[in-house]
Amino acid sequence: MDCLFCKIAAGEIPSKKIYEDETVYAFYDIQPAAPVHFLVIPKAHVMDSCAQADESGAQIVGHIFQVIAQLARQLGLEEGGYRVVTNCGENAGQTVRHIHFHVLGGGPLGTMA
Ligand code: 5GP
Ligand code: ZN
Repeated sequence: MDCLFCKIAAGEIPSKKIYEDETVYAFYDIQPAAPVHFLVIPKAHVMDSCAQADESGAQIVGHIFQVIAQLARQLGLEEGGYRVVTNCGENAGQTVRHIHFHVLGGGPLGTMA
């Protein structure tokens, strides 16, 4: 499969890594939309987006949220707060069809619909 985030998770395309474990990879977004903006992805292409979430994906998504909480703490985002976003499909502007969670923080983010 020709998937950008599969290649990033495999180290075939370079990225600014923040964290990795057996199942999850976290790295800075190449086009930051906030003072701190990173992405957390499952290493395996388990879903294109949250539209494919089902019982079999629950464990990895739960683990991703634990990793997000840990990294947000480590990067100093916890106190001021931060936003977690997953774009799902065309109307949301999803450009990479490998499920990923944006984590944005480091300053006021403005309101969101
Ligand atoms: P989406 O719009 O699909 O929710 O988010 C995709 C994100 O991936 C965008 O914020 C975009 O800046 C980021 N991105 C796209 N290509 C690359 C890349 O090659 N490296 C990194 N680090 N981020 C990328
Ligand atoms: Zn992929």
